[in-house]
Amino acid sequence: MNVLFIAAKMHTIEPYGIMCLSPHLKAAGHSVHLYEAEDSALADKVAEYRPQVIAYSVCTGSDRYYLALNRFLKQKFNFVSVFGGPHPTFFPEMIHEPGVDAICRGEGDHAFKEFCNVLESTGNITTVANFTIKKNGQIESRPARPLIENLDDLPFPDRDLYYSVSSEVNTHRVRSFLAARGCPFKCSYCFNPSMDSLYDGKWRNTRIRSVGSLIREIEEVTSNRSTEFVAFRESVFPLKPAWLEEFSREYPSRVGVPFYCHLRLDLLNETNVALLAEAGCHSVNVGIEAGNEKIRRELLGRNMTNETIIAACRLLRQHGIKILANNMLGLPGCTLENDIETLKLNQKCKPDYALAMLWQPYPGTSLAEYAVENGYYKGDGTDLEFTYYDSSHLEFRNSKEKTRIENLQKLFAPAAVFPSTTPIVRLLTHLPSNPIFKAIFRTMYLIVHQTDIFPHKMTLSDWGLNLRHITKEA
Ligand code: SF4
Repeated sequence: MNVLFIAAKMHTIEPYGIMCLSPHLKAAGHSVHLYEAEDSALADKVAEYRPQVIAYSVCTGSDRYYLALNRFLKQKFNFVSVFGGPHPTFFPEMIHEPGVDAICRGEGDHAFKEFCNVLESTGNITTVANFTIKKNGQIESRPARPLIENLDDLPFPDRDLYYSVSSEVNTHRVRSFLAARGCPFKCSYCFNPSMDSLYDGKWRNTRIRSVGSLIREIEEVTSNRSTEFVAFRESVFPLKPAWLEEFSREYPSRVGVPFYCHLRLDLLNETNVALLAEAGCHSVNVGIEAGNEKIRRELLGRNMTNETIIAACRLLRQHGIKILANNMLGLPGCTLENDIETLKLNQKCKPDYALAMLWQPYPGTSLAEYAVENGYYKGDGTDLEFTYYDSSHLEFRNSKEKTRIENLQKLFAPAAVFPSTTPIVRLLTHLPSNPIFKAIFRTMYLIVHQTDIFPHKMTLSDWGLNLRHITKEA
């Protein structure tokens, strides 16, 4: 069977979902192609390839884009459309959209292969676990199959699928990997607790790849492609002592490329930070999220004190590890003063980059439910955009406060570096939303990411891309 994935133009990060599905499909004998959605010859290519299935991996915010594209293709071609990824997983109501034939919820590794096998053989796709199907106006759903127990059993992701269509991803010298799936924590704004509900409390048991399997994949990729930096993109990088000790022994001698990973500050101690540094950890992504302890604990479900956060950042700095600190402004029911508290905590923590985003009520998270129930969000999720760096969709005490919070988000990073500017930044937030603040945010975001957090040689295409991002709408 001919299976086609269509994805919006990829620039730098290899999107994992589709790369993980492809090897299973190919091993089952299906033909797999990927086309970029913006390809001007897309319709001609689809006509030539004649896929029986067209599949999309969709995040909230990109759903409207893919739905419109799918409707356009449905008018021209006869195929079964399948939507997977976070949006249909947490917003299964998507099945009611015109042109959507099937959605896949949760881990699709084996589920999508079975879907294609069944479609090709009996056609009775309503029996496939993880899938919700729309047939003749009737909806049928099957629960998710058990989680894959041993991630080492999975084939390595099919990177060539992306590299063959995206020269930008192919030549980008930062390559992404996943060491684990799942997260034991329950932050109210995150998709992980919702996945835990979908999987009856089993998602929280983090599944970790063996060091051997992970390093073999990295060796395979880095020996074939120029790689200057490795980015681990799982929810939280494994810190189990035995695993980390083995990793810090093996990685430097067998790979030796500096890396980045995601950590939780309350899990850090002298021993694991030293092992990370020894392994070659150059930078980490950590959540500070809110400066007010009560908000962080009660609203966000993150039970860590300011002292813990400050001490962990100090420890990372002492070991020469660069810090990208995530922060969420414009939380439901919160004020500009709460966000200034967040800024002040960042000034104490001194991360290399204090990245602020405007919180978005993504469907399926308990914080989004809270925002709806308490009147802070009046939309239904369809108004959300793909980015969380432009504007908030919440109700604040008044429109002035909303603008001030949105302005603070743009000026947050430089204000975190220069605490003495806080009073000036406060004054600047009174100005109307404007392209200069947006350009400041984008410039700092791109420069710090490329030089401090993911340092690598910039290609001409990287520079061109950055320039386009900086000037976009600015
Ligand atoms: S925000 Fe991080 S720590 Fe919290 S549930 Fe999500 S992945 Fe886990």
